[in-house]
Amino acid sequence: MPGAAPTETLEAPGEACGVFAAYSTTQRVSHLIYFGLFALQHRGQESAGIATSNGETVTVFKDLGLVAQVFDEPALAGLDGHLGIGHTRYSTMGSTSWANAQPAHRQVGNTSVALGHNGNLTNTAELAASLGVSTATTDSDLMAEGLARLIDDERSDSRGLEVALMEVAPSWKGAFSLVLMDQGRIVGLRDPNGFRPLCLGALSDGGWVLSSETAALDLVGAKFVREVAPGEMIVIDANGVKSHYPFREVKPGLCLFEFVYFARPDSHMYGRSIHGARHEMGRRLAAEHPANADVVVPVPESGIPAAQGFAAASGIPYTDGLVKNRYVGRTFIEPTQMLRDQGIRLKLNPIPDSLRGKRVVLVDDSIVRGSTTGKLVSMVRDAGAAEVHLRISSPPYRWPCFYGMDTSDRSTLIAAHMTVEEIRAHLGADTLGYLSLEALLEATGVADAGFCTACLSGEYPTDIPESSDKFQLEPH
Ligand code: SF4
Repeated sequence: MPGAAPTETLEAPGEACGVFAAYSTTQRVSHLIYFGLFALQHRGQESAGIATSNGETVTVFKDLGLVAQVFDEPALAGLDGHLGIGHTRYSTMGSTSWANAQPAHRQVGNTSVALGHNGNLTNTAELAASLGVSTATTDSDLMAEGLARLIDDERSDSRGLEVALMEVAPSWKGAFSLVLMDQGRIVGLRDPNGFRPLCLGALSDGGWVLSSETAALDLVGAKFVREVAPGEMIVIDANGVKSHYPFREVKPGLCLFEFVYFARPDSHMYGRSIHGARHEMGRRLAAEHPANADVVVPVPESGIPAAQGFAAASGIPYTDGLVKNRYVGRTFIEPTQMLRDQGIRLKLNPIPDSLRGKRVVLVDDSIVRGSTTGKLVSMVRDAGAAEVHLRISSPPYRWPCFYGMDTSDRSTLIAAHMTVEEIRAHLGADTLGYLSLEALLEATGVADAGFCTACLSGEYPTDIPESSDKFQLEPH
C-alpha cells in the first residue's frame, strides 16, 4: 500500500481513480477522452491511459504521470477510432508501476477487451485462488483476467464481453465503477452498492459518454443524462444504450467522502451540487461548534466551501489566510530530508497580514493522519495568529476504508487512537470541533439516498477482507 500521494490535499485520504468512456457516431474520441480525463485528474495522479477501437483493433496507450504529461498530440493521433475508454490512477492496491497503469487489456482470440476500474475489491485473495493466479498485481488485473477467461470468442453476435461480464460480475465483491470496451462497444458497470460514482452523458452527435463525475461532462460538451444506478450495467453500441442488472441484491451506498472531499465542487451526485452540500456542512459546523473569533480561514482548496458556509452562518468575516501552490503536481524527484521537513510549504503558504493578531477559525474537510494538520496549525500560529480554532466539516475518521481509499491501515488513523481532546492537544489548536455524522448527512440534502459511512461509523455495508478483524476495529 503506497503512502499519501504528493498531490493529496493535506489531511484528506488519497483518491482512487477516475474513469471515462466515449462512443461517438461521427468523430475520433481520443481527444474527447483526453479532456474527460483531464477533468478527472483530481481523482488520481499516478498514471493515465486511454484505449480506443477503430472497429477492428483496440489500441492502448498508458504511462506514469499526469494526463497532460502522458499524452501529447502524436500519442493521441495514434489512438484511432470512434469509441474508447480512459483512466487516471491513484494506487490503493499494487505499486506505482507501468504494468499497473490502466486500462488493463486482454486479447481472447479475435476479441480485444480493455478495462478501467475505480474502487477496490474486498475478495481479491479468494478471486486469485479461484483463478489460480499468483502474478496479478492489482484487483483490476484480476477482474480483467476473470473476464477474459469467460469470453466466448466464437459467438456469432460478437457479444462475448457483454455476456461474460454478466456472468463474472457477481463474483466481484467490494467497490467497482468500471468502464470497459471491446472492438464495437463501451460498457459502464457499478457495483451493487454504487460506492464510486458513474454517470451517463449525451454528445450532440448522438454519441454517449460515461464519466466518474458530471464535471467532466461539462468539459467535453456532453449533456448530463442520468447517473448509472448501483448494480446497473450499461452497454453502448451501434444499437444505442441498453441496461442489464447482473446482481441479485442492490443497496445504494455511495461513498460519503465523495461529498466531503473527493468529488469536484462543480459536480453533482444524487442530483445535489457538491459545492452546495459543502457550504451547508460549514453552516451546520458553525451551529454545532461556534467559536469566538475574528476571521474564518479555509484550508484551500477543499475547505473553501465549508469555510464560506461557516462564515455565512456565524457572521465572522471570511478571509484567505493560506495560499495554495496550484502547480504542485506529481513529482518523481525525492526531496531531501531538509526539504521534506518543509514539505507542506510546497503546497501551502500563509498570508501573515491576514492572520497576525487574529483569533482564527481554521476550516478543513477532514483529519485522517493528523501530521499535516499539526504543521498547518503551527504555520498559522507562526504567522502571528492569536488563537487557532480548528473546525472539521466531517466526523472523526476512525475506521479503515476497504473500498478504494488509501486508509486501510488503521494504525495510521489519528482518531482511531485518540479522543477529540487528545487530538486537539496533539495538533496544538485552542479548540477543535468536528461536524456530527447526522449533520453531515443532512447537509448533503439527500440523506436517505444511501451512503457508505463506514470510516466514520464503523458500519460496513459489505463483508470486509478476512484479515481485518471487525472486533479490532472498535474506536478508542
Ligand atoms: Fe468512503 Fe469512508 Fe465508505 Fe471508504 S469507508 S467508501 S472513504 S465512506
